Amino acid sequence: MGIYQIAIDGPSGSGKSTLAKGVAKELGIMYLDTGAMYRTCAVASIKKGINPKDADAVKKMMDEVKIDVEFVDGVQHMILDGEDVTGELRTPQTSIAASDVSAHPVVRPAMVSLQREIAKNQTFVLDGRDIASVVLPDAKYKFFVVCAPEVRAERRLAELEAAGDHSQTKEEVLRDIIYRDEQDSKRATSPLIQVPEAIVIDTGKYDIEGTREFLLSHLDEEDK
Ligand code: C5P
Repeated sequence: MGIYQIAIDGPSGSGKSTLAKGVAKELGIMYLDTGAMYRTCAVASIKKGINPKDADAVKKMMDEVKIDVEFVDGVQHMILDGEDVTGELRTPQTSIAASDVSAHPVVRPAMVSLQREIAKNQTFVLDGRDIASVVLPDAKYKFFVVCAPEVRAERRLAELEAAGDHSQTKEEVLRDIIYRDEQDSKRATSPLIQVPEAIVIDTGKYDIEGTREFLLSHLDEEDK
């Protein structure tokens, strides 16, 4: 079995990360959550009091901060200037700031080269918005995950509530999802794109296990 990569792209809250984690576990391969890297840039902007939409301030910030990815027992940790910020990545405020900050062209090259570097020498499943289109256009397997915004909002709300976060209503969660969809697919640099060769997975049609099985059924026997 050689080294290969599985690229999973799709909009916010479509179930990419649940799918990618399940596939990684099933196959015994590594998982890289690239959204976590942009979320770390967002945390940096929040900590420094920088408006994530301010291109000049974000450029300066990116020159100053150090962002590292570490794997501890196969689990990804995000390190910002030496501090583990993994626990701070999933708040609603960070989600919106990540979408804002990741739209600046200046933010992307550093993250993309780190992603390529990490995935180079091992079999990885990566999820994001631009994995098949920009990060790893030669990935052996490419999937594009879709799901209706209302279904995504319901799932995200359940996730937030399970984590003890009751700060948002379903309407607010849906509004944030639509905001991020618009911004992630309309931005000039590395927008969310479905490459023609990607296999589409509608996570609204299957449960978690069914979605995983659907993806795995597209892999060559030698890679299972
Ligand atoms: O996937 P997740 O929701 O954690 O990503 C957070 C934000 O990071 C997204 O809204 C998107 O704007 C950005 N992102 C990106 N490129 C990626 C992964 C995420 O621009 N490869």
